[in-house]
Amino acid sequence: MIPLTIRGACPHDCPDTCGVLTDVVGGQAVAFRADPDHPVADGWLCAKVRPYLDHVYHPNRLMYPLRRLGPKGSGRWERISWNDALAEIARRWRDILDTHGPQAILPYSYSGTLGLVQMVVSSARFWNRLGASQLQRSICGAAAEAATEATLGARWSADYADVLNAKLVVIWGHNPISTAPHFMPWLRKAQRAGCTVVVVDPRRTGTAATANLHLAPRPGTDGILAMGLARLLVEAGHHNEAWLQQHTVGWPEFRTRLADFPLDRVADHTGLAPDAIRHLAHLYGTLRPGLLKFADGINRNFNGGQNVRALLALPAITGQYGIAGGGVMYSTSGYVKWDAGAVHHWEGCPRPGRSVNMNRLGEALLGEANDPPIASLFVFGANPATSTVAAGKIRQGMLREDLFTVVHDLFLTDTADLADLVLPATSQLEQTDLHKAYGSTLLTYNAQAIPPRGECVSNWELMSRLAQWMGFDEPWLHQSPDEVIAEVLTATAQGNPHFEGITLERIKAEGFVKLATPGVPFAGGVFPTPSGKVELRCDRLIAAGHDPLPGQFRTDSDKNGEGDSLTLVTGASHHFVTSSFASQQGLLDHAGPPSIEIHPDDATARGIADGDRVRVFNSRGWCELRAIVTDAVRPGVVVALKGRWSKISGTNNINHLTTDTLADFAGQAAYHSSRVEIERAPESRPLEGVLI
Ligand code: SF4
Repeated sequence: MIPLTIRGACPHDCPDTCGVLTDVVGGQAVAFRADPDHPVADGWLCAKVRPYLDHVYHPNRLMYPLRRLGPKGSGRWERISWNDALAEIARRWRDILDTHGPQAILPYSYSGTLGLVQMVVSSARFWNRLGASQLQRSICGAAAEAATEATLGARWSADYADVLNAKLVVIWGHNPISTAPHFMPWLRKAQRAGCTVVVVDPRRTGTAATANLHLAPRPGTDGILAMGLARLLVEAGHHNEAWLQQHTVGWPEFRTRLADFPLDRVADHTGLAPDAIRHLAHLYGTLRPGLLKFADGINRNFNGGQNVRALLALPAITGQYGIAGGGVMYSTSGYVKWDAGAVHHWEGCPRPGRSVNMNRLGEALLGEANDPPIASLFVFGANPATSTVAAGKIRQGMLREDLFTVVHDLFLTDTADLADLVLPATSQLEQTDLHKAYGSTLLTYNAQAIPPRGECVSNWELMSRLAQWMGFDEPWLHQSPDEVIAEVLTATAQGNPHFEGITLERIKAEGFVKLATPGVPFAGGVFPTPSGKVELRCDRLIAAGHDPLPGQFRTDSDKNGEGDSLTLVTGASHHFVTSSFASQQGLLDHAGPPSIEIHPDDATARGIADGDRVRVFNSRGWCELRAIVTDAVRPGVVVALKGRWSKISGTNNINHLTTDTLADFAGQAAYHSSRVEIERAPESRPLEGVLI
């Protein structure tokens, strides 16, 4: 039988948003590969998604709804029908509406699947109509986004190929080998053509190991380093006074602020040698164009927003915005701002009420959200008991007997284990969606390739069923996925010149289309800020309680009372997308046992040898991991890669130790400001990445 080939898009939280092809025979997917015509995927997929059919046909996929038997978290379930599940949800929610009102219901969703229909609209319309609590979705890049929009007006970047125009690339707090893999061939090509590559990262990552220069500052001191570089650039006359006068706001004040960042202070805070800082400043001042490529790592600490503001100042000081190969490569997301009216359909909905920060979920469940208390939690596209900061508090909150929790997922995750009802979700092959990217300027359509497995339903189908059971008959709650896409696309195109000539019909016919964006963002030194300039001084930040200039940084650390001598960095894994795929045995085998990297000096001081089982602890919790003693991390820093499920690791995972104190901007999670202590642990039981 000749297979039918269906075009789609990778839905996982990665900037590449690869085009994919699925071969289908008799409703069964028999092969899955990159779309050779997709300009970003370029015929190959990353290690995580290549075995995607193992994910789709995993023997542990949930196939039908489950109801808890026994106490919460006991792992005992009974199969129930969809009718019974939805009737129970509707009944429990009606009781909650009568007792507490709709804001006692909290939807918790994030990027388990990206996409306009299954993430964006599914997180909005039904919940607005219900009048549920809003969720502040600030776990990933909220501080960096706010900082970028304040400084430059928009998150615009060139496509990856622009790196070929650069003489210098500084990759800052970012490991694209693992998290933006399709950038790497372009980087290698640039490097072969003579481009100098510098990586700034507290860990010698795979990307750093192949750079021409690697600087390893203390985590969270990136902004201080950037301010120090700015001062050195000015002292050496590498700044562009004319450009600064014409295209920035606040240059005189910013220049004055630089007096606070002499080299010895910067070296002291960052832990870098003065010569190394001087060398980087010299490279950035002389090798032009110089491209700063960063991602969200540098914003996940107490100084996240101001760090990014300081970094964004460097291309302004040297006049390198608006030129090919210059400026910053952060995100292309700002080219696609979906029309909010079409996404949300606020008409006829209760007024939006309180907003609960997703990074405070544990505290919210334990009483921080008390007017009204959270009586029902509905989780989809997320696995907070694994992936969110202070996971121990989340677990404790989810064990509340009076909390009614529903989880919609493909698997019985750490979070689903704590639910009252679990509903089976589709994979990307079983649903329709439209994907923007944050690393390219493509829109990619995902056509449904196979029927839903078992009784699985997509996020959007679930929202429609919930609406039906709650008696909401507005047509915009019951559209087909293509109708949702057509409506939002049309509304967005009306006010966004980047959508010129883009229609659903065209995207479906071509599979992917390129947005009508300029090749070089901010060409001519024109910025979509209120001033039209780079806002080194941004007075709009004052209203939010921020210093309008970069340069105010917290230098204190996460204080736990105990266990605060080492800074914990929970970087991205090469084999999982946060917690997605971290139940797939093939990928677990490649990743090896859950581990923590520690510098030899820190290990010796604690009597820890390579391969030892160690207990990592602080006042929030503990976990046990395998020690990797390596000079790939700087002294005082330990690195445990994120994504491991506690139930599979046979121990709490690392997020039982991460802080839920927020970063400076936008309610951002500050994972990398967490502090821990480590000691040897007895070899009492196996600690491996195995399914249990
Ligand atoms: S995770 Fe990223 S690199 Fe991997 S297939 Fe998906 S979009 Fe491509």
